[in-house]
Amino acid sequence: MGIQILPPQLANQIAAGEVVERPASVVKELVENSLDAGASRVDIEIDKGGSKLIKIRDNGSGITKDELALALSRHATSKLHTLDDLEAILSFGFRGEALASISSVSRLTLTSRTAEQTEAWQAYAEGIDMAVKVMPAAHPVGSTIEVVDLFFNTPARRRFLKSDKTEFTHIDEWLKRIALVRGDIHFTLTHNGKMVRNYRPAVNEAQYLQRLTQVCGRPFAEQALKIECQHDDLRLSGYLQSPWSNNVSDTHYFYVNGRLIRDRLVNHAVRQAFAQKAQLEQPGYVLMLDIDPYQVDVNVHPAKHEVRFHQARYVHDYILQALQSALEEAGELNVKHPSS
Ligand code: ADP
Ligand code: MG
Repeated sequence: MGIQILPPQLANQIAAGEVVERPASVVKELVENSLDAGASRVDIEIDKGGSKLIKIRDNGSGITKDELALALSRHATSKLHTLDDLEAILSFGFRGEALASISSVSRLTLTSRTAEQTEAWQAYAEGIDMAVKVMPAAHPVGSTIEVVDLFFNTPARRRFLKSDKTEFTHIDEWLKRIALVRGDIHFTLTHNGKMVRNYRPAVNEAQYLQRLTQVCGRPFAEQALKIECQHDDLRLSGYLQSPWSNNVSDTHYFYVNGRLIRDRLVNHAVRQAFAQKAQLEQPGYVLMLDIDPYQVDVNVHPAKHEVRFHQARYVHDYILQALQSALEEAGELNVKHPSS
């Protein structure tokens, strides 16, 4: 066959294999883009579990007409310019892969308007060379991305999709994770024309507790212990299941600099703290760790589910100590005012 450069669409479809597993991964990439663009409200509309339609509308900064085509090209990003930037990345995106990948496996249109523009523009990429067409449109400041017929041209992927209900559940679960860490954002989620989630923005603690109740349920939220701890460049905050509750909790959320991370480190630290101070073996938690971005590597996994701490032991011990002292303090209070 000889060596040939892959045509853009095929190269993008191959890249899509890594980032676009199912409708929920599309929602994740698009909502993260909205948050990176500074949106304060994101509306998500889904039809048929996302296989028919995924529509994300935000009130973020928008994209200028000139940059619409670039936004749909691979390796085009506004978030990273040098290797140095990668060392300290704080935005969700940086690979410049998502829009190109998704548009290579669906019918994607991007409609956007910046505050400087008086009119909006719509773009979509077409054909094997993914040439971008741009035309005038109507839209307030911000962006709407519509993804229709996901995987229509990659039948093997399409067959892999589960029932609409299962795919929608994945979307709903993902939104819960982001809703917990971005209390400041108003999110709505609509499925087949019916609004199923409305997470109103939480600007104070009482409102955040409402969101915690919406996402994690009343038993967790009502008795949760608040964690707030700062040491040098590390900050741990969030909520821990009450050590006196005996509900088995499936609330396990750990964020590093605003990203949900699967990490054995924190699981271990939580269990160790509870093992010494309480009876619960698998306590629930919503914990947010803020750390100097230079101390953590996020470029470990394409979907960015994992991170590597440069000083893992130190981070683990810090979390353990923070939880232990919170539990101790709560224990003393509980002895003085036994509530259960
Ligand atoms: P990445 O997020 O890794 O930069 P994407 O393919 O997800 O790559 O997006 C490409 C670029 O398009 C982004 O860097 C950003 O400049 C722009 N963009 C995408 N979505 C939005 C949005 N909702 N609002 C504003 N700009 C956006
Ligand atoms: Mg992105």
